[in-house]
Amino acid sequence: MFVAGDAAGQCLALTGEGIRPALVWGQEAGRQAARVVRGEASLDAALAAYRTQVLAHRWQYRTLERIQAGLLRAPRAVLPTAVRIFAHGPIARVAQAYYWDLADPDRLQVAPGVWSDVHVTAEQCGAGPAATAVEQEPLRGSTSR
Ligand SMILES: Cc1cc2nc3c(=O)[nH]c(=O)nc-3n(C[C@H](O)[C@H](O)[C@H](O)COP(=O)(O)OP(=O)(O)OC[C@H]3O[C@@H](n4cnc5c(N)ncnc54)[C@H](O)[C@@H]3O)c2cc1C
Repeated sequence: MFVAGDAAGQCLALTGEGIRPALVWGQEAGRQAARVVRGEASLDAALAAYRTQVLAHRWQYRTLERIQAGLLRAPRAVLPTAVRIFAHGPIARVAQAYYWDLADPDRLQVAPGVWSDVHVTAEQCGAGPAATAVEQEPLRGSTSR
C-alpha cells in the first residue's frame, strides 16, 4: 500500500508544515501507482521506488526532529537570541534550501486541462480584489500546458 502525508509521518517537525509534503509525496505515490496500473512496473517495484525516494530525505526529517527536541529542552531565555542568529546568519539560506528540498513543490505536475497560463504573483496575492480576479482566471480559461 502506498502511504503519504500525515499517515506516513511526513508532516515536518519543528514547523508543523504538512500540506506541501502531503501534496508532493501524495502525487509521487500516485505516479508510482499509475506505473503499476499501466503495467510498467510490478507493485513491489513501484513501492520500492517510492520508498527509496522518501527515505532519501529521512536525514532531513531526523534533523528537524532533533532541532525540535533540542529547542524544547533549551532554556526559554536563549530562544529569541538563537532564532535571531539563525534567521540572519548564513546558515539560514542553506537550511532553507534543504528544508524546501524535503518536499520540493517543483516536482508537482498539474493535470492536463485544469491549468491556465495565468500565474498569480506574490504581489498579486496581497492585492485584494484585483488578485481575486486573477486567481479566478484559471477556472474560466483552463488552457492546458
Ligand atoms: C491545527 C492544525 C494546523 C495546521 N496548520 C498547517 C499549516 O498552516 N500549514 C501546513 O502546511 N500544514 C498545517 N497543518 C498540517 C496539515 O493540516 C496536515 O499535515 C495535512 O493536512 C496532511 O494532509 P493529509 O492529506 O496527509 O491528511 P488530511 O488532510 O488529514 O486528510 C486525510 C483525509 O482522510 C479522511 N479519512 C480518514 N480516515 C478515513 C477513512 N477511513 N475513509 C475515508 N476517509 C478517511 C479524513 O477525513 C481527511 O479528510 C496543520 C494541522 C493542524 C492539525
